Amino acid sequence: MLTSASTHDVLNQAPPIVPYDVFEADVALREALEREGGAWGVDRLRDAGRLAGSAEALEHSERSERNEPVLRTHDRYGNRIDEVELDPSWHWCLRQAIEREMHSLPWRDPQPGAHVVRAALFFVWSQVGSGVMCPVSMTYAAIPALRESPELAAEWEPRLTRPSYAEGALAGMAMTEKQGGSDVRANTTRAEPAGDGTYELTGHKWFCSYPPCDVFLTLAQAPGGLSCFLFEGRDPGFRIQRLKDKLGTRSLPSSEVEFHAVRARLIGDEGRGVATIIRMVNHTRLDCLLGSAASMRWGVVQAVHHARHRSAFGKLLAEQPAMQNVLADLAVESEAATAAALRIARSYDEDDAAFRRFATAVTKYWVCKRAAPHAAEALECLGGNGYVEESGMPRLLRDAPLNSIWEGSGNVAALDVLRATVKEPEGLPAFMAECELARGGNPLLDAHLDRLRAATAPSEPQFGARRLVEELALGLQASLLVRHAPAEVSDAFCAGRLGDGGRVYGTLPSGVDAAAIVRRAITG
Ligand SMILES: Cc1cc2nc3c(=O)[nH]c(=O)nc-3n(C[C@H](O)[C@H](O)[C@H](O)COP(=O)(O)OP(=O)(O)OC[C@H]3O[C@@H](n4cnc5c(N)ncnc54)[C@H](O)[C@@H]3O)c2cc1C
Repeated sequence: MLTSASTHDVLNQAPPIVPYDVFEADVALREALEREGGAWGVDRLRDAGRLAGSAEALEHSERSERNEPVLRTHDRYGNRIDEVELDPSWHWCLRQAIEREMHSLPWRDPQPGAHVVRAALFFVWSQVGSGVMCPVSMTYAAIPALRESPELAAEWEPRLTRPSYAEGALAGMAMTEKQGGSDVRANTTRAEPAGDGTYELTGHKWFCSYPPCDVFLTLAQAPGGLSCFLFEGRDPGFRIQRLKDKLGTRSLPSSEVEFHAVRARLIGDEGRGVATIIRMVNHTRLDCLLGSAASMRWGVVQAVHHARHRSAFGKLLAEQPAMQNVLADLAVESEAATAAALRIARSYDEDDAAFRRFATAVTKYWVCKRAAPHAAEALECLGGNGYVEESGMPRLLRDAPLNSIWEGSGNVAALDVLRATVKEPEGLPAFMAECELARGGNPLLDAHLDRLRAATAPSEPQFGARRLVEELALGLQASLLVRHAPAEVSDAFCAGRLGDGGRVYGTLPSGVDAAAIVRRAITG
């Protein structure tokens, strides 16, 4: 006879994964950090990695996601206040990132490898939550654009880079308007010279993430054409209309805003707004790539952990060949994304503009595109448990498409690569030279590189843009893995992506050492 207690036996459920060390458990990240010149940052990474995988961080992450931001437009007397209420856990998550210089390290301490160390820290902390990484990224990325105006940089850079949550400042970006985000040249916001060297901005912005920022970079039509401006968030003419009810990153307040004669200062020259703000965009694109790589990593950890503890049909899932194929496929995708992201981060440390610009656009397109199906497959590894909020997997899946939309949606990113092949003719050769470094290491990669070299311009270049960028991205990822990863990982990647692989995750061809790949995926 069943007793009531016997219905409550909990069998065959994976134990909690927390606490675990996000950095130490990630061999691919540790190796990439060292390889790309960031070995001196290992203590910072250990500290961030331990905290990121702690019960405390998990609790704050979950709480800030649960208690969503609320906009208060007016006080009880009817005065306009435009304040966003945020849960204390949001502040906890963001403060940890700021105090660890994830927004500023290379600007404060521009030693070789500083961008790589920051990238690795960003990667680790993104696994606590992607929402807070938005203001972290925008503040980091604002600096190169701000430096176009030395006076403004002298005034704001010390605050924007300070590793203090209370005394530092945060920067945001407001480009997108109702009628178009990709095509910013269609912006209608006006900038009228105020006669004292400043301008007054009037208009709206359809997306402005994190309106509590201290300063924003924006685009507006000045007499000399579309120009880049800086304005302060406390300006009385800056109105938050409403917060967006979004698919994911729900802890992050993204808003619609209006400018009512907002006082602003020009960055760079009038009419050069896109050229100025693109300096910011290139850096946020790097973070989109890092964020998507981190999302894959988090998914792999959850999937492998579950499969190592859950049995079905008399065996652990991790021992079942079909599941090994899925886990190994997810793991090689994640390792390829990590390797590419850290290699590209190194190009921000070096005088390597041709490779940097081209490789960022190519890889931002590809890795961000791969993140959502990767998250869906990782979720499925947990079966029904993965579909339930408490597992964190639904959040992973909801957040995953964002990086592909932001800072150049798929087509726009692919077309940007196409444009770069014409307008920046040194980019593609620099990119191919990096891919060629692995020549002779794997016949599938050699054949792929030959195909890329022989490719002639398609008759309808834009129609084929995604295909071209995909092939380029795979060439770089395969090249990095062939040179630096163990043979089981690079062989599986080349076989699955350049050879006889299938169309969904879990279709690596036979002969792949899946067990070894999964062993490498989480250590410790
Ligand atoms: C959560 C979130 C936060 C955001 N935060 C900010 C922020 O802080 N600041 C900010 O300025 N913006 C922000 N954005 C806006 C974001 O940058 C834009 O949504 C994005 O740039 C796309 O612009 P759009 O929405 O106007 O789409 P559109 O430009 O209308 O594009 C729609 C689709 O058409 C495609 N497309 C566009 N042009 C072409 C073409 N020539 N050929 C083929 N296809 C094309 C695009 O790839 C896309 O798939 C945010 C968006 C989200 C979802």
